Amino acid sequence: MNVLNDSIGRKVSYLRISVTDRCNLRCRYCTPEEQFPLLNHPDVLRYEEILTVIRALVPVGIDKVRLTGGEPLVRKNLDQLIGWINDINGIRDISLTTNGVLLAEKGRLLRDAGLSRINISLDTLKPDKFSYITRRNYFPQVMNGIETALSLGFSPVKINVVAMRGFNDDEIIDFAALAERFPVHVRFIEYMPIGSDTGWQADQFMPMHEIRRRIEEVYGPLSPVPEDDFAGPAKVFFLTGGQGRIGFIGALSNHFCDRCNRVRITADGRLRPCLLADIEFDLKSRLRHGADAEEIRALFFEAMAQKPKSHGMSCNTVKKCVRVMSSIGG
Ligand code: SAM
Repeated sequence: MNVLNDSIGRKVSYLRISVTDRCNLRCRYCTPEEQFPLLNHPDVLRYEEILTVIRALVPVGIDKVRLTGGEPLVRKNLDQLIGWINDINGIRDISLTTNGVLLAEKGRLLRDAGLSRINISLDTLKPDKFSYITRRNYFPQVMNGIETALSLGFSPVKINVVAMRGFNDDEIIDFAALAERFPVHVRFIEYMPIGSDTGWQADQFMPMHEIRRRIEEVYGPLSPVPEDDFAGPAKVFFLTGGQGRIGFIGALSNHFCDRCNRVRITADGRLRPCLLADIEFDLKSRLRHGADAEEIRALFFEAMAQKPKSHGMSCNTVKKCVRVMSSIGG
């Protein structure tokens, strides 16, 4: 069977699934302030539907799955879904992107079900700034979540920090210190212009080379970690004398579109070939009209033929994709 290639020969092997559009945080840069319409439960893909899709795609080369949201841990029985995915022959890696709020409570179940890796999003190490940016007071829960992930032996535990000038540019060294003291991978991510109602401003954007320079001023030159299969788009470095690592994801300044191996499914069951382009295919309707594995694959091949070569955004772009990140999943 042909592998899932796009029109310029990129092999797509990594499926990112948003399992819910609901979230227990309201991050200012991710979710609009005012109430925004949430999906009705019947409009969210059911676990059986997600499994049907994954099973259909393994024969064309999908071998990595990431669960995201919204906040994936607010969806009931996520550990069961992980267990079922883990039982699918050919899936060699299941990972999760979470805000960490419910991780202390659910981490063990997730690990026992077969979750391989965890990325935890955290943009500040200061409780008051956390409450400001997330509009919720769950900082202690997130820190507990990180400790739980480490104590349960997840490896690596990645901490994703969206770098925003004027918000957390004064904490870059504090985050680097976290990777010095603990075996975590701290990954800085460029702030992207996503969601038409969220307040991205070009002057809040911080390019990765600036963050790297600031860390090197304190820690000396960072030495690159040889590329590993699970580094994803991050450029990863050892921190001299540190237990963890530092990663940089230059989504705009140094985009990795030429190496993109991803395809996404949104919480409402739409297939999205590129995070930052509003091109979508209605997977859910096909599933609910009884599409078999061959028809599901055909839709993915059709979508891959339209996967943009590049997201076309730059550091001072004005273009924003319309969907908010909380409904795509990041
Ligand atoms: N709730 C989960 C979490 O917090 O990790 C998963 C969903 S969240 C949408 C996934 C990631 O997208 C988070 O790390 C978040 O910081 C990131 N994100 C959201 N909006 C972003 C933006 N405009 N630019 C860069 N990253 C963004």
